[in-house]
Amino acid sequence: MAYQISDECIACGACADGCPVNAISEGDGKYVIDADACIDCGACAGTCPVGAPQA
Ligand code: SF4
Ligand code: SF4
Repeated sequence: MAYQISDECIACGACADGCPVNAISEGDGKYVIDADACIDCGACAGTCPVGAPQA
């Protein structure tokens, strides 16, 4: 089960820089995680200022 980014995302981009497999990209108004690439490391959840990435 990959992480998903909720609508709380403020599109700051911090998580994308920290993802070890580059699974995060900018979407329409928020960032999105490629579920096929995500390895569930949890780094994005730890980096996000608003807690938007959730397992
Ligand atoms: Fe990237 Fe890890 Fe977040 Fe998955 S859980 S999107 S691999 S930082
Ligand atoms: Fe959105 Fe959080 Fe990623 Fe910033 S760190 S782009 S607020 S999910």
